[in-house]
Order: sequence, then structure tokens, then C-alpha cells
Amino acid sequence: MPSIKFTCPICKRTETIEVSEEKIQSAERNPVPVLITHGSPEHAVTVFIDKSFNVRATSAADIIQRIQDTESAPRKYTRRHVPVPKQTKVQLDDLDYAQVKIVALADGDKSVDELAEILDIPAMRLKILCEQLVKMERLESVKTVVE
Ligand SMILES: [Zn+2]
Repeated sequence: MPSIKFTCPICKRTETIEVSEEKIQSAERNPVPVLITHGSPEHAVTVFIDKSFNVRATSAADIIQRIQDTESAPRKYTRRHVPVPKQTKVQLDDLDYAQVKIVALADGDKSVDELAEILDIPAMRLKILCEQLVKMERLESVKTVVE
């Protein structure tokens, strides 16, 4: 099993976890959010692992729950703006917290509005951040989907 090293954003401890190669490779999303609990008092961390087993981002938020809520909610929009991720690994070091999260969550399916809801950022601001990320070549594009 591939082992993954990450630093917990809450207690700053570096942890090594083992992930199932099959689970990562067969996941629909890339990167794949993996929920870890550790420490005392116990706390939860979401680690985003891409298909090459690189850690793309870590989050202390209850982000998996919010992804699931959004995916199970009926789609309200007929015209959606969808950020498309780059196929290659992009540098995240110089990005701010919100930008890292957008790059980690963009899967070519979730729309700007859905990401705004997950990240708790106003949709207009999220759209501007996406456009900046395209200019900075951290996202492939923002496509418009009419449904
Ligand atoms: Zn921790």
C-alpha cells in the first residue's frame, strides 16, 4: 500500500497514513478526499490525495460532509460555470488558502456555485478566484455548461 505523509493543519503533527491504491485509483474524484481522525482530543482532517499519491491539500473543515450534501442536492442551475483542473500536478505553495481548496476540489464536474457552497465563499468571489487561477495556469479553464 502506498504510504502518504501529511502535516495536520490543526495540531501540526506530521502523520504517515497508508491508503488503498485501488480505492484511490477507482475514485471518481481526483484528488480524492480522505478523512483521517487522530490525536487526543481526537479531531478530523481531510487529506486530498491525487492519483499519483501526492497530497494536494489538507483541510480541518467538515468538507467531505459538505461535498456529499452538495452532490445529493438537486442541481438548481441551468447554466453552470465549471472549473476544469490541469492534468498535471500544479504548484500550490504560493497560493492562498481559498485558492488551494479550489484547485484541490475542481474536478471538471462541480460548478462554481457548488464549490462556493462547499467552501463557504460567495459565488462571485469564487468565480473571480477561478479566473485568476486560470491566468496563473493552475486551472485549465472555466467552462460554461448549459443544461
Ligand atoms: Zn492533528
